Amino acid sequence: MLRFKTDEVAGEWRDGRLSLRLRAVVRFVDSWVKEQCGFDIVLTSIFRPQTTDSGVHATWRGVDIRTRDWPEGVAETLAREVNQIFRYDVSRPQMKTALVHDVGQGTHLHLQVKAGEGAWG
Ligand SMILES: [Zn+2]
Repeated sequence: MLRFKTDEVAGEWRDGRLSLRLRAVVRFVDSWVKEQCGFDIVLTSIFRPQTTDSGVHATWRGVDIRTRDWPEGVAETLAREVNQIFRYDVSRPQMKTALVHDVGQGTHLHLQVKAGEGAWG
């Protein structure tokens, strides 16, 4: 089961603007963590207005997941697995679907999908 840092984030998860492809990646991550670790993931941020990052949060194509309370190495292992299954863009292999990074608010798992067409965008 997914958990959310705030009611606001829970509302954003239900928002029709959130990429369906990204939802599918989040569902995979949720199942994987449940199976490997036995706990639920916490979504900490979905929509953010355009700031200094790449802008995927501003266009409903990025989510952040809390990892600070995960066992060491789990987030990195999971990110590798996600990136093998869900290619961000075959023509831009340097771009990744899953990143473990710290952009100022602490290390977390960032998931993103590229802009697409139609309902799967
Ligand atoms: Zn992010």
